[in-house]
Amino acid sequence: MRCWAEIDLASLERNLNRIRSALPKQMKYVSVVKADAYGHGIHPTAARLMQSGVDLFAVANVKEAIDIREMGSGWPILILGPLLEEEDQALIDYDLIASLSNHSELERFANLALNAGTSVKIHLKVDTGMGRMGAWWEEAPTLLGQVMQTSGLDLQGILTHFPDPSNHAFTREQRARFLEVIQPALEKYPDLLIHADNSSSLRSIDKASPFNAVRIGLLQFGVAPPKDSLLADLEVEPVLSFHSKLALIKELPA
Ligand SMILES: *Cc1c(COP(=O)(O)O)cnc(C)c1O
Repeated sequence: MRCWAEIDLASLERNLNRIRSALPKQMKYVSVVKADAYGHGIHPTAARLMQSGVDLFAVANVKEAIDIREMGSGWPILILGPLLEEEDQALIDYDLIASLSNHSELERFANLALNAGTSVKIHLKVDTGMGRMGAWWEEAPTLLGQVMQTSGLDLQGILTHFPDPSNHAFTREQRARFLEVIQPALEKYPDLLIHADNSSSLRSIDKASPFNAVRIGLLQFGVAPPKDSLLADLEVEPVLSFHSKLALIKELPA
């Protein structure tokens, strides 16, 4: 073995503990392990994260969600990306949580629940200006209202994503849009997970705000966030390191 990458699971656990202790006690930790845990390998990292006590896993797609589910039952697993229709059944078969963005998904998931004689767990995704997944914030209140009236849908959370936390004005605007959308659900569903911040934002954690979960990806693997994010001073260690052996050293004239 001349060149290799090492994955230091003890570092991963120390990072997790540091992030945890920098967050308020009640804040839920959604561990983002999409793309094979950012290339660190899903099985060893997810196993360690389970032992170290994350609250929920988030992944990009059904395949990644099933990989984690096969490691153990009981862990809540949220799929951040949209499902293909032929993947819907996996929500039931593997007990997964879907992100819901629009009315056609609502109908699909409600039918799925009806046919399976159970309910489908969802987090409602709100697009507060990024333009990726989620219901556009001006249309999201209608969708939320429909979700609340549809039997078979088990609304467990509401989320949005901040694509550019260093752009404070835009992010502030996004946050305001989001808070307005979620308002009607807060009373009816006291246990909802309300989450937006990722490694580089983490600015939603004052006590008065309804945010009660954060989605941490890069930071837990030791990739430091931008200087202006709330946890920028946190000392995290890289989990991945590259190594190689020197076979020949030679000096040449300049
Ligand atoms: C990737 C991703 C995250 C995690 O972001 P990091 O910068 O890695 O912490 C959070 N939320 C969503 C929707 C993502 O796609």
